[in-house]
Amino acid sequence: MSVQIHKTRLWESIEKLAEYTEPGQPYTRRSFSPMFLQGREWLKRQFIDAGLEVEVDAGGNLMGQYPGRNPELPPIVSGSHSDTVPDGGRFDGIAGVLTALEVARTLKENHIELNRTFVVVDFLAEEPSDYGLSRVGSRALTGDLSADMLQYTAPDGSTLAEGIQRVGGNSSELNQPLMAPGDVAGFFELHIEQGPVLETEQLPIGIVTNIVGITRVDMSFHGRPDHSGTTPMDIRADALAAAAKVIATVNDNAQKWLKQPEYLVATVGKINVQPNASNVVPGRVDMTKKHDKLRPCRAEKDSASCEAA
Ligand SMILES: [Zn+2]
Repeated sequence: MSVQIHKTRLWESIEKLAEYTEPGQPYTRRSFSPMFLQGREWLKRQFIDAGLEVEVDAGGNLMGQYPGRNPELPPIVSGSHSDTVPDGGRFDGIAGVLTALEVARTLKENHIELNRTFVVVDFLAEEPSDYGLSRVGSRALTGDLSADMLQYTAPDGSTLAEGIQRVGGNSSELNQPLMAPGDVAGFFELHIEQGPVLETEQLPIGIVTNIVGITRVDMSFHGRPDHSGTTPMDIRADALAAAAKVIATVNDNAQKWLKQPEYLVATVGKINVQPNASNVVPGRVDMTKKHDKLRPCRAEKDSASCEAA
């Protein structure tokens, strides 16, 4: 049997959720914010209208269940996140949650009973939050939310534990994983590609085969600052000239991995030169993990889009 989802309805849902945004700032619904909670309220209403059994788990994840014929079997889970970074994209996270919801609606409307329960999920705070931690809801599921992390504070002084309570979770149950391996039969997440490959190659969809692993390193080059006009080339210790060779080598080596099965990219994205003056031989160069615009990470395993302390 072939059943089509309701494309227009899915699109309308995406447009509707986009209306829950900070004034004058499209697609901005930071986790734990009043705007996020309003968006969640709307989402919850959609889950209920779709006939799903709705709950917010202890980790603050919004779940909607479409019960299957054999509720004792591990369910099929699908979803993503409804929180955004500031000025996030139209589809990031949202597409995954609303597509899963649309699948549930379609199953229900067509009276299709699945063997297993189908769960639509909106994970709490996938993006870095004001508590300095990302992937809060998924951490709760896997038991990666330590007592320490629950005490992280937001600029308003509240703790993450309090934030989780505020979205309907229960932080006192988070001292152990909410799920064990095997509790889920399969997980499917539709996600926007946050890069240009599919569009460039005109591919309609890509299937994820590997999850990216990120390593960041700090490097410092120590030379000696000298007057550039009076210091002969053979007795200089130019830190920037050395750093430039490393930057070029990193780039050249990464290029060699292009189109290889074990794909790799490498970037030197930030350097600080001292004293950074046109008439002084550079005495020191730091290539740092630090990112100017992002907030500090508070945990070793925080999101890639925060600034390592
Ligand atoms: Zn995302």
